[in-house]
Amino acid sequence: MPADLHLHTTASDGSWEPATLLKTAKNHGLTTIAITDHDTIANIPKALSLADDLEVITGIEFSTEYADKEIHILGYGIDIKNRNLAKHLQDLELERITRAKRIVERLNSLGLELEYAQVKNAAGKHGIIGRVHIAQALVQLGYVSSVDDGFNRYLGHGKPAYVRRDKLHPKQAISLIKSSGGIPVIAHPGLIRNDALIPGLISLGIEGIEVMHPKHSTTQTENYLKLTKKRDLLPTGGSDCHGPNVKERVYLGSIRVPDTWVTHLKAALAKT
Ligand code: AMP
Ligand code: MN
Ligand code: MN
Ligand code: MN
Repeated sequence: MPADLHLHTTASDGSWEPATLLKTAKNHGLTTIAITDHDTIANIPKALSLADDLEVITGIEFSTEYADKEIHILGYGIDIKNRNLAKHLQDLELERITRAKRIVERLNSLGLELEYAQVKNAAGKHGIIGRVHIAQALVQLGYVSSVDDGFNRYLGHGKPAYVRRDKLHPKQAISLIKSSGGIPVIAHPGLIRNDALIPGLISLGIEGIEVMHPKHSTTQTENYLKLTKKRDLLPTGGSDCHGPNVKERVYLGSIRVPDTWVTHLKAALAKT
């Protein structure tokens, strides 16, 4: 019963619609997946309606800021009908629009002819707007050769069109996840590059650690698994797949979370 508990769709910056994601996941022999789009649950109803022998767990990935670091927090098993959650997600969506417009202005002042409508078009009908969509618009216009090139030349941290976004404090993300019946998990801690921050996050109410991730080394995976045992936390894992057109590699199928981890996560959710 292998699972992949970290996946993106077109509702955020992934390139697959739920139907394609589910079909591809099945082709890889997965039996459980969690959809964890950035700041949105817009594609979850669709994914749930398509789920048959493939089980879909509801999820989300929040970007937060803590000790000057960007920390991503996954929320599993959230109630997608929760009103308070919907309100906060709407605020985040509007804030992302404001930021995207500011980035477009920056790019314009750098001499690139790009309109916000083109970014909106890259982002699709529903869900949030992110830097990936701006990069995709720049690729279409021929200003950059790939999404990666767009980040390296214009959109990445410290690059000429970088615009900071006000992020949630981990406390706020954790509380939003818990108040909507979900379980908060630190995403890809290996990418934070500072394990000393983990105990502080646990004390804020984190209940799990994403142990398996394509960017984790074998040693990191072993160490994070040990930490979950020592601190009585849930181990999770996922490929963080965004589909093709976003990152060079499509990671779907590369992470297969063991059965027992999924069972423990589901048992914990049954108690929320
Ligand atoms: P945003 O949430 O709008 O700030 O954009 C961050 C997202 O951009 C991340 O979730 C990644 O999926 C994506 N991203 C960041 N760096 C790169 C990169 N160098 N190439 C492609 N995608 C990237
Ligand atoms: Mn992303
Ligand atoms: Mn992330
Ligand atoms: Mn992710």
